[in-house]
Amino acid sequence: MLSKRVVIGMISHETNSFSPILTDLDRFAQRSLAYGPDVITQGSGTNTGIGGYIAAAGSDVQLIPSVAAAAVPSGLVTTEAYETILGTLLETLEAARKAPEGLDGVALCLHGAMVVQHVDDGEGDILRRTRECVGPDIPIVATLDLHANMTPTMVEAADALFGYDTNPHVDGYARALEAFDALRDIWAGTLRPRMHLESVRMMPPTINMRTAEGPMVELFERARYHEEKATVRNVSIFGGFPYTDVEFAGLSVLTLTHDDRDRAERIGRSIAERAWEIRHQFLKALRTPEDAIDAAMRAERGPIILADVADNMGGGGSGDTTVLLRALLDAGAEDVGFALIVDPEAVAACVAAGPGSGVRLSLGGKIAEAHGGPIDCEGVVRALTDGRFVNKGPMGTGVTTTLGRTARVQIGSVEVIVTENRTAPNDPEVFRHCGIEPTDKHILVVKSRGHFRAAYEPFAADIIEVDCPGFASPNLEHFDYKKLRRPIFPLDAL
Ligand SMILES: [Zn+2]
Repeated sequence: MLSKRVVIGMISHETNSFSPILTDLDRFAQRSLAYGPDVITQGSGTNTGIGGYIAAAGSDVQLIPSVAAAAVPSGLVTTEAYETILGTLLETLEAARKAPEGLDGVALCLHGAMVVQHVDDGEGDILRRTRECVGPDIPIVATLDLHANMTPTMVEAADALFGYDTNPHVDGYARALEAFDALRDIWAGTLRPRMHLESVRMMPPTINMRTAEGPMVELFERARYHEEKATVRNVSIFGGFPYTDVEFAGLSVLTLTHDDRDRAERIGRSIAERAWEIRHQFLKALRTPEDAIDAAMRAERGPIILADVADNMGGGGSGDTTVLLRALLDAGAEDVGFALIVDPEAVAACVAAGPGSGVRLSLGGKIAEAHGGPIDCEGVVRALTDGRFVNKGPMGTGVTTTLGRTARVQIGSVEVIVTENRTAPNDPEVFRHCGIEPTDKHILVVKSRGHFRAAYEPFAADIIEVDCPGFASPNLEHFDYKKLRRPIFPLDAL
């Protein structure tokens, strides 16, 4: 007998305010845009937040699926896309609330760094309008990305929020279980949620926010230590996402207690103080392309991974910058697998030429001239695919990635994967699906900041982060912030 009814949904986007690529419904459809029962079909059995909610519901809770929308990080979300997606969630809530069986809870998967054409604080707006729809008494829980830019509006509107504890993010499922537990405890009266948000005047680049090494290790250790205390339910550390030009971008600490606001405040302040003390540890020196390629070519053993961190599509990179590819070609680097260049026109040219044929391309560099410009080159089409593969690495395991039509083009000794869609190559299947065995290559290029590490680190001989131009460059002084609160570290001398 089902006794409780919970609406679930996912609205997730990490918005790069500096990217000119608007995020419309088509861009959501490329990654995930499911409605109603399809949310369950798509999410069941996956290592994702929705997968976690489905598993947590068990037989005593009826899940009412609303929408599961996620797009690869890119520029502002269009008003139309946002209102369509949020509108579906709100309609589902309204219908559930008015049904005779009623509504008992809301469980969402959000990101925390979404910016819409007409709304700076996307998640604050989603949670506020969800609250307005369901009223004050129905609990709202949500999971958030570690790169969330937390705002007071989000915390006021929700009952309990849970940030990812891992980066690369492999715990969306686990956090959803935790959020659902909170929902059950709120129903049982054993959790009276009191949250405190402590924002720190720092907005570090995302380059050194991994949870396996660097300054985040210590901050998360402190969070775990405080979570042992009787009234403390959860401590989330948010590194923030620095490529959104909004007032509250940056690092914050969110503490969730059972009816203990004082302790929530004390814990937030103490971790925030420590984050401030170690703020310089978040900065990292990168190597120039020439330096990095030279080191990779000299290495005795491969694969050496060159991470083009500034064109990380997971951070809003255009995926078509060419500085690193040009440097590899100029240096005559051999035995290179390059993932990837987004260029639908080049893909069309490869498809027209056919496998095994030579092709003349003006490759990449079309979104922003300042990021390298197109490379005029001749290559050989080695393979054509539909760009679909199932992730086998630890992140998003079981999720199908869709690169759109994809060509593997050999240019000199570099095998370049050219795609129609923007997706960070975080799973090595991106290479295998088009016939490149990544473990056999001497050099691999991945346009990714850090999420690739979960799957590539086990077989990489070395990883070198390269300093190239791009919309996700860790050199934040390249960007012209207008709305961000100032002063803030590291942009200002603090
Ligand atoms: Zn993230």
